[in-house]
Amino acid sequence: MRPILKSSKLANVCYDIRGPVLERARQMEEDGHHIIKLNIGNPATFGFDAPEEILQDVIRNLSAASGYCDSKGLFAARKAIMHYTQEKQIRNVQMEDIYIGNGVSELVVITMQALLEDGDEILIPVPDYPLWTAAAVLSGGVAQHYLCDEQSGWLPDLDDIRAKITSKTRAIVIINPNNPTGALYPKDLLCEIIEIARQHQLIIYADEIYDKILYGDAVHTSVASLADDVLFITFNGLSKNYRAAGFRSGWAVVSGEKSHAQDYIAGLNMLASMRLCANVPSQFGIQTALGGYQSIYDLTMPTGRLMRQRDVAWKLLTDIPGVTCFKPQAALYLFPRLDPKIYPITNDQQFVLDLLLEEKVLLVQGSGFNWPFPDHFRLVFLPNVDDLTEAIDRIAHFLQRYRKR
Ligand code: PLP
Repeated sequence: MRPILKSSKLANVCYDIRGPVLERARQMEEDGHHIIKLNIGNPATFGFDAPEEILQDVIRNLSAASGYCDSKGLFAARKAIMHYTQEKQIRNVQMEDIYIGNGVSELVVITMQALLEDGDEILIPVPDYPLWTAAAVLSGGVAQHYLCDEQSGWLPDLDDIRAKITSKTRAIVIINPNNPTGALYPKDLLCEIIEIARQHQLIIYADEIYDKILYGDAVHTSVASLADDVLFITFNGLSKNYRAAGFRSGWAVVSGEKSHAQDYIAGLNMLASMRLCANVPSQFGIQTALGGYQSIYDLTMPTGRLMRQRDVAWKLLTDIPGVTCFKPQAALYLFPRLDPKIYPITNDQQFVLDLLLEEKVLLVQGSGFNWPFPDHFRLVFLPNVDDLTEAIDRIAHFLQRYRKR
């Protein structure tokens, strides 16, 4: 029979967070092994429950949620998102500028597909959350990766951004707070990125899904609050701040200078209509999520579970010889560096596979975030302190053996 091949459009699309190493971990679990999973930022699976009042709203409204709704989402939910954009001082947002989707993920794909012609370029950070690169490439675009600088707390390298702009560059992506590094961007840096966008007429896509998961005295600024003469699309949702990733509920907000972008916005509207609407039941939770008790702050305060886990994981990791790591100011991840002189890794996917096989700990390799060197991995610090301690202990033992290979 003629082989059934995948589309050539997928040739360069890559999403390794759920890639071959995870597949191997699944097989090991089927064979009865217990794996400590530090690979996916899914809070609910580590006992971080979604706020009860959100669940109750969804349950209470279930009988009214069996029909399609407006393609952009329920009115009350979008109104609540509009109030949130006002709180964040995002400028020039009307109701029609708010799109609710099946998670930020769906909206990232829609916003890329509506924009990119084959060969158009888009500036995406490395390391990145790899959905951005995958969605751009799937849409025919070319991901131009700009470096974030570990030495300066993983802040975007502005010179590298400038050097990578060509006549085909259409947009720049900012992930702030950042996955996988945990960096939080200061206002003056955001202003400099806006200035670059202004000069080269680029759209700014701002992925702010971790904007409430902040540690210490960290404060988040929405880049779209800093200018009204650039087009911004800001992304957020229920998955992280409200620990409801399984609800698949996120939103995108178009703001700033929209008058020259009416054709693009018509494209967004069309793609939003083609998928009819996002999951309706979970939209009933959005108003309460945004307007209700913000229990995330109980978790991120100094005595809160998330902050304690971040501190423990960071300390244990950086105590291992040859391991250094920026201490995250936000989000749920550590992105440590393994000194190549001590750990001469050539294939970081093989490295995390070996760790899985030998120690039954699952991580994601740095190259899964498009990081160009085989010297980093990402660790999710959602498991409780006992599991984190056990896992990092095993990583330390593995590394000790790895040095002697
Ligand atoms: N953006 C970033 C930076 C993420 O880390 C994630 C998920 O881990 C997403 C977007 C996807 O979010 P959603 O669950 O809303 O699709």
